[in-house]
Amino acid sequence: MNRTPLIAGNWKMNGLSDALGFFSALAGAGASTRHCDILVCPPATLLSVAAMRAAEHGYLVGGQDCHTEASGANTGDLSAEMLRDAGAAFVIVGHSERRADHGESDALVRAKALAARRGGLVPIICVGESLEDREAGKADAVVGAQIAGSVPESLSATDYVLAYEPVWAIGTGRTASTDDIATMHAFIRASRPDGDAVRILYGGSVKPGIAEQILSLDDVDGALVGGASLDPSSFAAIAKASHS
Ligand code: PEP
Repeated sequence: MNRTPLIAGNWKMNGLSDALGFFSALAGAGASTRHCDILVCPPATLLSVAAMRAAEHGYLVGGQDCHTEASGANTGDLSAEMLRDAGAAFVIVGHSERRADHGESDALVRAKALAARRGGLVPIICVGESLEDREAGKADAVVGAQIAGSVPESLSATDYVLAYEPVWAIGTGRTASTDDIATMHAFIRASRPDGDAVRILYGGSVKPGIAEQILSLDDVDGALVGGASLDPSSFAAIAKASHS
């Protein structure tokens, strides 16, 4: 199955307007969309200008979260429709920081994924076990349950993207071993109807030095990158590693 790699950056709560030179710097560093899709999820404050700058180079932009409703009395929230209107093509849902810091449940993540589709966006649905779960031998069970609860059955394989992000690898400089990543990605693929067509990203301290090893694994269809996506040359190096 031919799955175009997706290299996605999550800027989290980082970036003021002076960060918008990122897209030309990324192009200057040689990040080409010939063999992969390149996506940046900046803070929502930058989204509409980022969308225009990104489009000049064929890059995509996305949101980092969305509300389940299209509009309404939800102070401080953003709907999928609003993100789309600002130029987003994707939205991250169920990131472990939102699951932990905002108490987001699988059911809420599932509702957000459906809202993303309603609003015309592709949800990147994040799952991943804690270190405690992994050490207790429960990684498959935890990730399997998150997928069962967070991925709407009505979505077809190309309507969404999955991101496997072991919580203990995010922002810690620790990556999962390539064996563990390969095993988990194969498990995730086998757990989905039409699993062959679903893009499954790995996330968790992906850096240029290790990107090639991870991205060359059969069931890894790209990366969700936090820290290293803030630096255009690092992010470009990761994008290049997806087709080296
Ligand atoms: C993330 O936030 O999804 C992430 C993977 O972060 P980092 O690359 O910094 O570990």
